[in-house]
Amino acid sequence: MANDTYEGISHVVKVSTDVIKGCEECSAVFGSTSDIIADSINHYIDEHGYKLLHVGQETTDDHAGKPWHTTVAVLGKHGWSVA
Ligand SMILES: [Zn+2]
Repeated sequence: MANDTYEGISHVVKVSTDVIKGCEECSAVFGSTSDIIADSINHYIDEHGYKLLHVGQETTDDHAGKPWHTTVAVLGKHGWSVA
């Protein structure tokens, strides 16, 4: 993926409203508040030095075939440590 935004990014995490999971870097668990996306983004940025690469909407079909809108955020971390 030759995109300047991703230059030097060695690890990418994706968070979304329909997947409640913990932090990939530590034992923190998201989902205790109604704003999982914001919690996740803030956590990765503040605690682990990630950079927000993308926030958007994704549409998938639910089990009944109806469109289901989810918010997704993609964060990336450089291969070197960032302050
Ligand atoms: Zn963490």
